[in-house]
Amino acid sequence: MKRSLLYSGKAKDIYLTEDDELIVSCYKDQATAFNGLKKEEVIGKGRLNNQISSLIFEKLNRAGIATHFVEKLSDTEQLNKKVAIIPLEVVLRNYTAGSFSKRFGVAEGIQLEQPIVEFYYKKDELDDPFINDEHVAFLDIASKEEIAYIKEETRKINGLLSSWFAEIGLTLIDFKLEFGKDKDGQIILADEFSPDNCRLWDADGHHMDKDVFRRGLGEMTDVYQIVWEKLQELD
Ligand code: UDP
Repeated sequence: MKRSLLYSGKAKDIYLTEDDELIVSCYKDQATAFNGLKKEEVIGKGRLNNQISSLIFEKLNRAGIATHFVEKLSDTEQLNKKVAIIPLEVVLRNYTAGSFSKRFGVAEGIQLEQPIVEFYYKKDELDDPFINDEHVAFLDIASKEEIAYIKEETRKINGLLSSWFAEIGLTLIDFKLEFGKDKDGQIILADEFSPDNCRLWDADGHHMDKDVFRRGLGEMTDVYQIVWEKLQELD
C-alpha cells in the first residue's frame, strides 16, 4: 500500500500510495511542544492518537462532515484522501486557556459567551503567527467565501465534538483544525483530532491532553489512554 515518503512531520509521516488520490498517515511515537523545542519519544502515543483520531473522524464522516478520513489500516496507520493543505491553523475556543490567556492577560477556564475562531498562519520558520481574515486574504491563502465556509464548518464541528465529549464527562476547552482541498477543489477537514491538538478537562479540572506534556504534569499516554477508553463508550 505505502509507496514513498511524501512528508515527515512532527507527529506523523505521510506516504504516497499507488492510488494518486490516497495517502497513508503513519502516527509516530514522538511528542513535541513549543514549535519543536521540547521533543521526546513517547512509546504508545502514535497508536493512541491514531485510534482516537480515527474514531472521531469516522463519527464526523457519519455526521455529514466532509473529511479526508477513509479507514484505519493498523494500530498506527490510516488511509486518507490526498489534499492540498490550506496553510492555516484554525483554532476554536470555548473557554480561555493557553496562548489566549497569555495574550489577553486573562485566567484560564473562563467560558466564552460565543466560541471564538482564530487563525494562525502555518509557517514554522515564522513560528505560526496569529493572523486575521484580512491577512488571510492578503497572503492569498483563501477567498472570503472560503474563509466563511471554514469558520462555519469549524463551528459545526465544535457543536458535534463538544456534545460527544460532554457525554463522556470531558469539557472541550479549545482545539486546532486543518483543512485541505481535495482533487475537485472542495474544502474538507484534514490532519488529525487528538489530545495533541485540543484541550480536554475532566470534571475535576484535570488536563486530559498535551498540556500534561507541555507543562510536565505527568505521563501523557496515561491520560490519552483514559480519553481513548471513554471515547469507546460512545456509539
Ligand atoms: N494547537 C495545536 N498546534 C499548535 C498550536 C496550538 O494543535 O501548533 C492547539 C492546542 O493544543 C490547543 C489549541 O490549539 O488545543 C489552542 O492553542 P493555544 O493557541 O492556546 O497555544 P498553546 O498554549 O498550545 O501554545
